[in-house]
Amino acid sequence: MNYEILINRQNRCPTLSQDLVEVTPLFPKKRRKKIYLEKKVYQAFQKIQKEGLKYGYYFDIVEGYRSVKDQRKIFTQMIDRYSLEDAICMTAVPNFSEHHSGLAIDIEYCRRTKKGAYRKRKIRETDPEYSFLLQHMHQYGFILRYPKEKQLITQYRYEPWHFRYVGKKLANILYQEKLTLEEYYQKNYD
Ligand SMILES: [Zn+2]
Repeated sequence: MNYEILINRQNRCPTLSQDLVEVTPLFPKKRRKKIYLEKKVYQAFQKIQKEGLKYGYYFDIVEGYRSVKDQRKIFTQMIDRYSLEDAICMTAVPNFSEHHSGLAIDIEYCRRTKKGAYRKRKIRETDPEYSFLLQHMHQYGFILRYPKEKQLITQYRYEPWHFRYVGKKLANILYQEKLTLEEYYQKNYD
């Protein structure tokens, strides 16, 4: 498995030999779909989860591996709801989603409400959980894939919840040099 693979609007997700494992959530929802991830990615995420707990942060994965068929469904729904143009802006065309690889994760956090119930929410920019992730994710091999200030380069709108596993070595380089995967490839392979 090549963890450094570039998948974006121009580069489709190739056929990969994946080793997908099922994710066990910290806080299971009543009716939830099963979530799968590449094994090594899940192991790395579990370390983050553990580290987060020390700070009182409860991280879970809301989206991991996604089949081309599922992406087709999402894409079609977006077109029906909005327009083809908007759908392309908001999600990936089937075969071109990073989620096909099993290397991408959408993170949510869980908080306890005063009444003792759990509330789950996708990571947002203003959350302290987000600052924690920004500071630590690269140490475990993840990068924030679609940063706010790089939208023109990634051709994706800002997604504070979407992280991509690229391995520790590359994650550290990208973090230190403040590069997206696109910029890294341009710099090294063009
Ligand atoms: Zn995502």
